Amino acid sequence: MATRRRMRARVEGTVQGVGFRPHVYRLAEVHGLAGWVLNDERGVLLEVEGDPSAVELFLQSLSEDAPPLAAVERVAAVERPAQGGKGFAIVASESRGSPDALVSPDSATCADCLRELFDSADRRHRYPFINCTNCGPRFTIVRGVPYDRLLTTMAGFEMCSACRGEYDDPGDRRFHAQPNACPDCGPSLRLGESRGDEALRAAGAALGEGQILAVKGLGGYHLACDAADERAVSALRSRKHREDKPFALMARDLSAARALVELNPVEEELLQGRERPVLVARRRPEAAVAEPVAPLSPDLGVMLPYSPLHHLLLDEAGRTLVMTSANVSSEPIAYEDDDARARLGAIADLFLVHDRPIHMRTDDSVVRSVRGRRAPMMLRRSRGYVPGGLVLPVEADRPLLACGAELKSTFCVARGRRAWVSHHIGDLENWETLSSFRSGVEHFERLFAVAPELVVHDLHPDYLSTQYALEREGVQHVGVQHHHAHLAACLAEHGEHGPAVGAIYDGTGYGLDASVWGGELLVGGLEGFERAGRLWPVRLPGGAEAIREPWRMACAWLAAATGEGQPALPATLRAAVEPKRWRQVAELARTGLASPQTSSMGRLFDAVSALCAIRPTVNYEGQAATELEAIADPGERGRYPLSLLPGGELDARETVLAVLDDLTAGTAHSLVSARFHNAIAAGTAEACAALAAKGGLDTAVLSGGVFQNRLLLERTVERLADTGLRVLVPERLPPNDGGISFGQAAVAAARLP
Ligand code: ZN
Ligand code: ZN
Ligand code: FE
Repeated sequence: MATRRRMRARVEGTVQGVGFRPHVYRLAEVHGLAGWVLNDERGVLLEVEGDPSAVELFLQSLSEDAPPLAAVERVAAVERPAQGGKGFAIVASESRGSPDALVSPDSATCADCLRELFDSADRRHRYPFINCTNCGPRFTIVRGVPYDRLLTTMAGFEMCSACRGEYDDPGDRRFHAQPNACPDCGPSLRLGESRGDEALRAAGAALGEGQILAVKGLGGYHLACDAADERAVSALRSRKHREDKPFALMARDLSAARALVELNPVEEELLQGRERPVLVARRRPEAAVAEPVAPLSPDLGVMLPYSPLHHLLLDEAGRTLVMTSANVSSEPIAYEDDDARARLGAIADLFLVHDRPIHMRTDDSVVRSVRGRRAPMMLRRSRGYVPGGLVLPVEADRPLLACGAELKSTFCVARGRRAWVSHHIGDLENWETLSSFRSGVEHFERLFAVAPELVVHDLHPDYLSTQYALEREGVQHVGVQHHHAHLAACLAEHGEHGPAVGAIYDGTGYGLDASVWGGELLVGGLEGFERAGRLWPVRLPGGAEAIREPWRMACAWLAAATGEGQPALPATLRAAVEPKRWRQVAELARTGLASPQTSSMGRLFDAVSALCAIRPTVNYEGQAATELEAIADPGERGRYPLSLLPGGELDARETVLAVLDDLTAGTAHSLVSARFHNAIAAGTAEACAALAAKGGLDTAVLSGGVFQNRLLLERTVERLADTGLRVLVPERLPPNDGGISFGQAAVAAARLP
């Protein structure tokens, strides 16, 4: 008998519920190997035995040819004594120890399932819950691990014999597809008294008549209506109490999306990816979209259908739909049926629902592409990406929980080098969101077997996330400065420790000196940092009022720039601001009464936006800056001055004076905006280069919510390229506060002895 070789291999990563065992089974068959494979808490365990070269080939293909949803992190193989024997078996799951077997994110309907969905001969023809091993709901239906039907919200549906046959057959593409279902045994659709296909047709007709439909999706409810119907969209906007924030759209297919927005190949790929995010792209002038979908915005947020129900609904409606998260104003997305009815009853005319419960609510993810880069800019990381794991550059010796910040809140659990950042929770400003945060934390701790010994928080004492962290007893608390966390998050997602120089620009963050930071030049790494520079500080006249009323920032900046206690009310603001209020605010800026100092870059953008008369007041955070970016003339290369003073301040006073001069001279606002963006980009690059030279550093990090501004990011990266510095920007996590929790985790892990 020829020599036989037996190997035992452990496969770690996202390898359960993604068709990994059938993949192993098929590989073993191809290579004529005997043995077995099973799922356990750590992932997949297997043994193979046979011809040594065949075993070698088998191990090679194990991760190289892994199924699409699998994310193999590690394969550890050890030699075992040969046992002889024939045949390969998939054996029952073992259950003990702590779960490491990662749950995969929800995944868009695959091409095979789509084909069956629209095949009139298929037994799942037009079945809105079709799925397979390569696609369908995952994270949103999982109640616990190991990933198994009984621990999902599909537990209540008993498979019929046909479905059971597929589920048990290793050769079938639905082998162990936990949400496997069919019209005979699975979830069903309902709209009022109508069921199934009848409900679907009624929904399509209602949309055509301009009605507003609440649709139960993967991670929560959406509100849908005809995107071209001015009356329907306006009604949705007023019933939802949402004044200007753009609504996301769902286009039927790629060609429908192309008719709405300009798409480059990278963007088309993003749109069609399994994650199916909302892609923010440049609107086509001829896009057939009602004005109130995205007032004043040159961009539209577009996604493609990602569940079979969406495919059927879009097909039935035959038009592009508004598909916006179903919530009222700042509350989290609705996902429970009774709650949805109660909260959305006054908004939706009809409810298209089904009986598969959603366990974890997740909003749609939002991305934007950046010129010249393959990786998108993540604006909101949620459905489709979560709970995909991230790797920490340093080992966390003790399991930890990082609680994030306040706006665009996320949290992160970590142990060893593994970290899991939560879905987007929302702005942690009310009880609803906080309770969603709490239950999310509990779920992640169970799912990834993290019992935190360390709880990390922002330094801001008033954040609900900080208060939550401090209420956790029997743990060590660690505070991490906000902008340090931004810097660390970007370093860590690139697997780096620093030191680097970081330009961290955002709206607000609690500084070490208890003042409001937000335009920071930091030098440091994961363990610590030094504030090497900052934006010239001005007053925030009236505190939070100044965030809602950007004209106040214009006043504060003019006061600082002109050195006058009572700067003149500029012509561009005369229509929007009464002279008396202007004088009062100037007085606040002068005396500092109820007006803390701030180095916030976000507020400088607000000031310039107000000076250009774009946004004297705003309805949501970041609106003024977004609209300032939108009007910038991309062809303009001129710029205003902005230099780094010897004391480390980026002196934007000269920038603001130049803005005022141009406005007084009647220069087009599109040029003013572009020159301002170019000034910040060039000034930032020069400052980074100077600080890097001083510290002997070769890397610059750009992060913070202000860098969601694509024009600013692209221009700053260009200028930094001239300086020869290596540039790191956030890719897997948002530059905004959605990335803070991961940065906090990285800092805490690095500081552990
Ligand atoms: Zn599929
Ligand atoms: Zn069935
Ligand atoms: Fe921030």
